[in-house]
Amino acid sequence: MTPLTAFAGQHVALFGLGSSGLIAADALMQGGATVAAWDDKDASRAKAAAAGVPLVDLHDADWSAFDAFVLAPGVPLTHPTPHWTVLKAQAAGVAIIGDIELFCRQRALLAPKSRFIAITGTNGKSTTTALTAHLFKSFGYTVGMGGNIGTPILQLPPPSETQVHVVECSSFQIDLAPSLNPSAGVLLNLTPDHLDRHGTMANYAAIKERLVAGSDIAIVGIDDADSAAIAARLKATGKSVETLSVAGHVVENGITLDGTRLLRHRAGVMSVIADLAGIASLRGAHNGQNAAAAVAALGADADDLERLQTALKSFPGLAHRMEQIGKLGRVLFINDSKATNADAAEKALLSFPRVHWIIGGKAKEGGIEPLRPLFGRVAKAYLIGDATETFAATLGTNVPFERCGTLDVATERATRDAARTGRDEVVLLSPACASYDQFSDFEKRGDRFRTLVQGMTMAAQ
Ligand code: ADP
Repeated sequence: MTPLTAFAGQHVALFGLGSSGLIAADALMQGGATVAAWDDKDASRAKAAAAGVPLVDLHDADWSAFDAFVLAPGVPLTHPTPHWTVLKAQAAGVAIIGDIELFCRQRALLAPKSRFIAITGTNGKSTTTALTAHLFKSFGYTVGMGGNIGTPILQLPPPSETQVHVVECSSFQIDLAPSLNPSAGVLLNLTPDHLDRHGTMANYAAIKERLVAGSDIAIVGIDDADSAAIAARLKATGKSVETLSVAGHVVENGITLDGTRLLRHRAGVMSVIADLAGIASLRGAHNGQNAAAAVAALGADADDLERLQTALKSFPGLAHRMEQIGKLGRVLFINDSKATNADAAEKALLSFPRVHWIIGGKAKEGGIEPLRPLFGRVAKAYLIGDATETFAATLGTNVPFERCGTLDVATERATRDAARTGRDEVVLLSPACASYDQFSDFEKRGDRFRTLVQGMTMAAQ
């Protein structure tokens, strides 16, 4: 927990009492602030009251008395329309901020030079955050990891010179953190996402750009046009920028991926810094980008190449992201339940030459149409959930497929077919769909797949 002494004596309004909101309220109170908290939902208010958070109906409050307004990142700031609390704060001229901003203000007070790695991007944030934290830990640092992944930022230990903070930031959180100034900022990539909440791609990219613009060292993927433009703009201002490319953009002071090897380009010299071959948790070029970012974020310590290679090798990976969950004879099972859209499933397909592919659920716009160029890698598709007929139509006569209805049936059939070939095979759950038609979230879907696979492997012993 980080008590927010930077706000001692201040009067702070707070809206949104989910887990990070409750912790923000607690951190403010522990630091000596007076909190007026509210939520539209009765259940959230009841939980907050039970936790000792003072509730004030912000509809009727005197907003001119507030020094700051803390908004939960899930509540609309600008699009589709600003939340009613936002309008009230704006009318009263009260700054609207989030929990990352609260942390930054406390860091400015306690340890402005502490290591604070902030990570964003459309895809790969969680993997890169977990890997960066893992690398720092492997090099002997005390690390707090959180933000948009796992632990809310204010639940981590306070900023100090002896503590590294590795924090995943969503665009919503950046939007609420005007003084975000990490020691190293990572922007992995940008593709259209959450445009319902950010209006336009330009606005979305501008928000993400703020994270790297405010950082001491900017680490930027340059494989998409928007991120490349951001890197160029930052360089033009004289900022220290390290670029990442897995698509062959070799730039001075950059890291690239050549096959499975990470190469560093510095002072006109190219050197191999690590090899990801055989590291199951870092399969695929997309993980090359994540690894390059984490290595760059580690800074000068990464020059100890032997230690770096050992640290990369011991990265356990994250559940539900290309997670190797079992092997039955020559059949390998990969849980990529987090792949809720075609973009993410594409990365999984690119990582294997041939797969028995379990797909379906609640389809996103465009379905699996963008994956057509990769259909040659699919030995057979096993369709589940609402998307079955849409996906069957896209697969047509190009790919053999079977309508399985449920994940249980699909897993059983895919395993049967894969085992029958007698060759090395992969059964991949990378559904390219949301899970909501059959599961409450992607974690439950992945957990069910894991249970099914464990059941089969245990039965085979
Ligand atoms: P996020 O936290 O940004 O959602 P994750 O690390 O949880 O990202 O990965 C989610 C999915 O996105 C993975 O299953 C993978 O398919 C894909 N992915 C991971 N890293 C990248 C990357 N660097 N570029 C593109 N796609 C990626």
